[in-house]
Amino acid sequence: MKTDTIAAIATAMASSGIGIIRMSGNEAIEVADKIFFAKNKKSLKDCDSHTIHYGYIMNENEIVDEVLVMLMKAPNSYTREDTIEINCHGGVLVMQKILETVVKYGARPAEPGEFTKRAFLNGRIDLTQAESVIDIINSKNDFALKSSISQLRGAVFFKIQNLREKIIHETAYIESAVDDPEHFSLDGYEEHLDEVISNLKKEIKCLLDTADQGKILKEGIHTVIVGKPNVGKSSLLNVLVGSNRAIVTDVAGTTRDIIEEQVNLNGITLNIIDTAGIHETDDIVEKIGVDRAKEYLENADLILYVIDSSQQLSEEDYHIAKMVQGKKVIILMNKSDLKSKVEKDQLEYVKKISEHVIMISAKDGDGIDKLVTIVYDMFLNGNVTYNDELIITNIRHKNYLSQALESLELVEESIQNHMPEDFYSVDLMHAYETLGFIIGESVEDDLAEEIFSKFCMGK
Ligand code: GDP
Repeated sequence: MKTDTIAAIATAMASSGIGIIRMSGNEAIEVADKIFFAKNKKSLKDCDSHTIHYGYIMNENEIVDEVLVMLMKAPNSYTREDTIEINCHGGVLVMQKILETVVKYGARPAEPGEFTKRAFLNGRIDLTQAESVIDIINSKNDFALKSSISQLRGAVFFKIQNLREKIIHETAYIESAVDDPEHFSLDGYEEHLDEVISNLKKEIKCLLDTADQGKILKEGIHTVIVGKPNVGKSSLLNVLVGSNRAIVTDVAGTTRDIIEEQVNLNGITLNIIDTAGIHETDDIVEKIGVDRAKEYLENADLILYVIDSSQQLSEEDYHIAKMVQGKKVIILMNKSDLKSKVEKDQLEYVKKISEHVIMISAKDGDGIDKLVTIVYDMFLNGNVTYNDELIITNIRHKNYLSQALESLELVEESIQNHMPEDFYSVDLMHAYETLGFIIGESVEDDLAEEIFSKFCMGK
């Protein structure tokens, strides 16, 4: 495949130890040879693949930087194309100058993700592996990283391929039987297909069942901390974050705007939003906070409702309780280190709002363990999956899996209604194609190959 040569700065646009400018395409080596002057005076085109060379990048007569150049010849590279990686000093200006130089001598600036896109288009990786690359980069916790690595290694790809093989096997058999009834019998086929479909459905349902957990584990739990001013919301956030980033103060409503923090709790991430406190106010700045807080409440996966247990419940507490009722809420009776003033009937009222009511002290950190346990129970049925079980973390995969399941249900219906066999093929192929979208494959060639190789009619 002939392609133009793309180039980009592959490392962060910030000062650091080293920076990398990457080039890929038919002319990558030629471009590098025009601007790179190796100490050993050799041209890169005459060097072996997977070697590193020391020298200077020159823009005409001007030295741009002292560098190491990594040479990877097609097809043994990330993109399967000739690839050059220039390791330079990690300054933003110097990286930009080198990029400008390679562009001046024939490369074109790459689009975001274009190297990985080429890896996919050139068949080195499938779509799920391509997607895992970005997931690895964006991983926020151990689980997300582990599952992305396993996806990069082809876990999703192999599973989907396996499902598709089972489907195409049946389609190919039906087609063969319709074309050549003498050699391929359909006697008792309905029962056989019914069983195959039922097993396929089970497998897909198992995958779909992992998707909600997958989303939580990958993206984190969108969490909102609510409570009237001074109950200890900022203090709680600080305990969870483990640093003193939020300003903790005695003055009512001083946490004016909304603070968002990511907290890693033994492998799962809470994306926590602390609110300015939900209460009626004339203060405009605070009002912005309050309106947004209400909006966040609507979209939250989890609400942490903080009450000051050293005070009696006030009108405001009841007001907030009503707002969070019916949602996934944990009620935290804070300031457990002080004498509780919450009355019995007030506590009973609170317990009606949520089955999870716990005493904590944001000051001492008491009760935080219990909070973590409850979060695990609520979202992960108490366990975090760290084994090699395949978990669907990608919404695109989830959608296509659901669609494939629907198609298989239609096949089941056709079987129940004793429709002619070629009716099955339509929905089977639909399921096959839909699963193919997950890994980014087309369908026709595969089907042809399968029919002619396995069920060859000429023999
Ligand atoms: P917010 O307005 O809800 O964010 O409340 P803050 O976190 O700013 O806390 C208000 C006041 O309560 C501060 O003086 C905190 O030190 C204090 N506070 C917070 N949590 C506790 C706790 O568990 N015990 C005690 N004794 N004081 C606390």
